[in-house]
Amino acid sequence: MRILITGGAGFIGSYLVDYYLKTGDEVIAIDNLITGKEENIKHNLDNKNFRFIKCDVCAPPRIEGNIDLILHFASPASPFDYLRYPIETMKTASIGTINMLEIALQNNAKFLLASTSEVYGDPLIHPQVEEYWGNVNPIGVRSVYDEGKRFAEALTIAYHRKYNLKINIVRIFNTYGERMRPGDGRVIPTFIEQALKNEPITIFGDGKQTRSFCYISDLVEGITRLARTDYPLPLNLGNPREFTILELARKIKELCNSNSEFVFKPLPEDDPHRRNPDINKAKKLLNWEPRIELEQGLKFVIEWFKKRLGLDRN
Ligand code: UDP
Repeated sequence: MRILITGGAGFIGSYLVDYYLKTGDEVIAIDNLITGKEENIKHNLDNKNFRFIKCDVCAPPRIEGNIDLILHFASPASPFDYLRYPIETMKTASIGTINMLEIALQNNAKFLLASTSEVYGDPLIHPQVEEYWGNVNPIGVRSVYDEGKRFAEALTIAYHRKYNLKINIVRIFNTYGERMRPGDGRVIPTFIEQALKNEPITIFGDGKQTRSFCYISDLVEGITRLARTDYPLPLNLGNPREFTILELARKIKELCNSNSEFVFKPLPEDDPHRRNPDINKAKKLLNWEPRIELEQGLKFVIEWFKKRLGLDRN
């Protein structure tokens, strides 16, 4: 297959690049590097089956040759990033998604959209099932991402209905792993960096809000299985084990042998109180479920961060 991966230098995108290159496919990655990092793909730059194009999905170049599959992963994804790049986030979800859908149409390619659990907003149904329409503030600060992804889902299914385009829509719940940018603001890299440096661990709100964290290899396995199906409706992928942010902080502190203190900061606007995926559909459709427990995954990431931060010498 010849596969186009947008956001190919990002956290999840770069693991998808690795996956498909390993299976012998040809991969073209595009990324404008506003939040992605060339470092995430540099080990593939010599691979003759790989090509990296630095560009914006809002103004993509003509891509020669046929494409079989488009994985549309370009977007800032951490709240910190999309609050810093609100307009870019909305343009990527709207103009960028239309551009990629058009390329899929011209090539008769399958199109897979990376959507998000953020489409459920601050959910009133728990755990979240795919049929739930969500509880999103359309003018809140997070709306640039939430509404952007909701619009991208609407676009994707409209192309499917009107043109019979083959599509998948994956709603990705909190995912973590190596290659997350230190300083990207998300809770796991932030807590790990703070714990390793024995700096205060910043808990937002009372820390009783919950998230469910999926290790990157489990997510990639789920996404690539979904891409082999013709299932056109949104599908949740994530780890159904739910933790409070306080539990996460304690776990990371312990695994890092840290003496960091906890400091409590205001809860950001519209920060969801609970989040947990119902993955029954994915289990049935893909014969998939996450295998890596949080503690195991955190150990991998902590080791990676120690090296990244130059803290592995003592
Ligand atoms: N959070 C926190 N301290 C931090 C960063 C995040 O307590 O330094 C909390 C945040 O308020 C949210 C949860 O951790 O409730 C997950 O935040 P993240 O930014 O990782 O992703 P989200 O799930 O909100 O998109």
